[in-house]
Amino acid sequence: MTRSKNTKLLHIGSAPFDEPSQTAGVSLPSIRTSTVRFKNLDALEHAQRRRASGERVVTYGISGLQTHRALEDVFMAIEDGTYCVLNPSGLASIYLVFMSVLRSGEHVLVSDNVYGPVRTMNETLLKRLNIEITFFSPSQDDIASLIRPNTKMIYVESPGSLLMEMLDMPALSAVARAHDLVLATDNTWGSHVYQPLTLGADISLVAGTKYIGGHSDLLLGAVVTNRDDLAQALHQTQYAMGNAVSADDVWLALRGVKTLAIRLKQHTENALGICAYLDQHPKVSRLYFPPWHKDPGHALWQRDCSGGNGLLSLSLNASANDAKTFVNQLKLFGLGFSWGGFESLVQWVSPSALSSHRYWNEGDRAVVRLHIGLESVEDLIADLDQAFEAMTDSR
Ligand SMILES: *Cc1c(COP(=O)(O)O)cnc(C)c1O
Repeated sequence: MTRSKNTKLLHIGSAPFDEPSQTAGVSLPSIRTSTVRFKNLDALEHAQRRRASGERVVTYGISGLQTHRALEDVFMAIEDGTYCVLNPSGLASIYLVFMSVLRSGEHVLVSDNVYGPVRTMNETLLKRLNIEITFFSPSQDDIASLIRPNTKMIYVESPGSLLMEMLDMPALSAVARAHDLVLATDNTWGSHVYQPLTLGADISLVAGTKYIGGHSDLLLGAVVTNRDDLAQALHQTQYAMGNAVSADDVWLALRGVKTLAIRLKQHTENALGICAYLDQHPKVSRLYFPPWHKDPGHALWQRDCSGGNGLLSLSLNASANDAKTFVNQLKLFGLGFSWGGFESLVQWVSPSALSSHRYWNEGDRAVVRLHIGLESVEDLIADLDQAFEAMTDSR
């Protein structure tokens, strides 16, 4: 019987039966140990042989123990992949992908809508390592014309950061295939509702810090692939970098996943309710949210995604100062980075962050990103309403 992904996620990571008592815990404990003891040298060598042949055998904490294996299984089920490497943060996952695929002297094409810290990583690390990035617009550039003899990877994010630009993953995959490039994507927005690997990507990474954890109480990342060669490079590089993940954080993520599907459903319903309110508000210029029927990426979202979440942006018919008043005035929306937890958050999007996104075409309009949490929609609308009221000038 083939089971739905949601059913699978509820049952992955159940504790195994204890033979003497014939019972098992419903949930797996957090296995907090830095190392394991082997019964004798034969057992140690046997474990090492199995490990060398690619089996996921526990030998030492850096590559994880049973709790970690269960979360790897979760990410593989979510992403439809066969290999998973856990990382201490989403950003560490991004860095791991770059370090596993690229060598000094090589070139990578990166979509201009990526998570901002990728640009910091470029300035502080990649340039020092002589790895060169060309940022490109997925909607406006002829990608094939940007490929050089030393290009090794196309790295994208769909939907993109800040403006949720939907990309055509199968089309990107066709370009990557034709030029023998690795196609890697940040699937944090789409985790659980979007499977880039089935659409032709080679690597999908997720910041588990967001919806997988779901409670704003942990940092974690995962890299998933179906390719043996990439899996080997990812595992070796992860070990070499010493990127260990705490079993307690893994345990929290395993618990978060049990409610992932139901949370995402409610986040989406709340976000669409907020969109219906914002869409008719005179202070709102445009909404950026692929599940919303007026978003330019809606058709791609309908084609490729099975659901939504609570992360959206809006541009305002207001001066920058007035937009800041709106942000400052919000009470239920906490002002802060990140998203994907149970709570609503607002982030002021700086114009300099948008100037490099060619998908952006609203000039100097102010943009605010909202994470719509699980509070009741009526309360969130009331909060937005009083913040709009506090805006003073009319534009
Ligand atoms: C938050 C985020 C990350 C990084 O995750 P951390 O765990 O905070 O390092 C990566 N990509 C996207 C799209 C994100 O939103």
